[in-house]
Amino acid sequence: MPNLDHQSDLPPDRSHLSVNPANADDAAAKPLPRRRQLSNDQLAKGITAGDRAILGRAITLAESHKPQHQRQAEQLVTQLMPQTGNALRVGITGVPGVGKSTFIERLGVTLADDNHRVAVLAVDPSSSITGGSILGDKTRMAKLATHPNAFIRPSPSAGTLGGVAKKTRETLLLVEAAGYDIVLVETVGVGQSETVVAEMTDCFLALMLPNAGDELQGIKRGLLEVTDIIAVNKADADNITAAQHAAADLKRAMHVMPRKDNNWQVPVLTCSARTGDNLTEVWQTVTTRIHDLRNSGTLEKRRRKQALRWMWSLIEDQLLTTLKYDQHTQPLIQQMENEVTSGQRAPTAAARTVLDQFLHQHASPDNNS
Ligand code: GDP
Repeated sequence: MPNLDHQSDLPPDRSHLSVNPANADDAAAKPLPRRRQLSNDQLAKGITAGDRAILGRAITLAESHKPQHQRQAEQLVTQLMPQTGNALRVGITGVPGVGKSTFIERLGVTLADDNHRVAVLAVDPSSSITGGSILGDKTRMAKLATHPNAFIRPSPSAGTLGGVAKKTRETLLLVEAAGYDIVLVETVGVGQSETVVAEMTDCFLALMLPNAGDELQGIKRGLLEVTDIIAVNKADADNITAAQHAAADLKRAMHVMPRKDNNWQVPVLTCSARTGDNLTEVWQTVTTRIHDLRNSGTLEKRRRKQALRWMWSLIEDQLLTTLKYDQHTQPLIQQMENEVTSGQRAPTAAARTVLDQFLHQHASPDNNS
């Protein structure tokens, strides 16, 4: 494995999910007061000191739906910003069953054995619907979960994809502040989740199945547009030839697909997460890609753009939510919806009417909202 040259009490409390069994003794020796809320200074101190339980609590804070918790988390992340940005941020996607957890487990253990500190996060849109998370689950990565250099956090389980992504982004910054130098963000290709993960990572790796024919049909254009590297997994035993054919087909497909970076020819590799074959090569390709981006100054620019887009998407989400639930605008929204659906009013005029009233309401110094 190549060595890289870079170096409260909150309902629902999910911090137990991230307490690494390897550190269970620490947690038992120093039980955290369940009902006492920690200040941001205490949280920041614990996080930078590598206190895993405190990191878990900070993430729980960021995942909370209570506005005061969210504000506290935002301030905490701001406080920790100087300690962030030092990790390799790698997105990993693939359909269920492609071998993501096997891949992350094996790769993660190798990296953690190599003295890297590895965090695994997940963006799982299905968890928004089911309330449960299938990704980043410790039981799927039993060895990595018990490794003292690893930290696994399942996907936040409620909210929209945008909400899940916001929380995962904050978690990413928190784990960076805690000194994790490799962050793997896992996702399944549901909805826009790949784009969302590509927007928070430096390099996006797509794992594919060896049965190319069907697979090629199913590949979404959106996925290939954000992919940096493709690895056809399960290239072992009877699957080797099929995997090689799949890789050749994918290489051809990549020539005609629009990509996120015209200067980059997406490498297509084969590997086996089960046997470990070629995993080193896949990881080396990932690190080379990130180092090239860093050396050319592109990484810095890309991260700045990502941060700005994140800010704007939060503003858009928040504005829209405020507008939709603004009690003074509600009756007008209802009226406009009725008039638009009955064909009495043009959508353009209705939109303007709603916006005018909302902006007037919020611009006025004596508004009572
Ligand atoms: P995920 O749903 O993408 O996380 O996939 P898993 O890692 O849970 O793997 C799904 C199944 O594929 C499991 O039975 C794994 O043992 C198997 N699997 C994963 N990687 C490989 C591989 O490289 N080769 C083979 N033959 N099987 C694999």
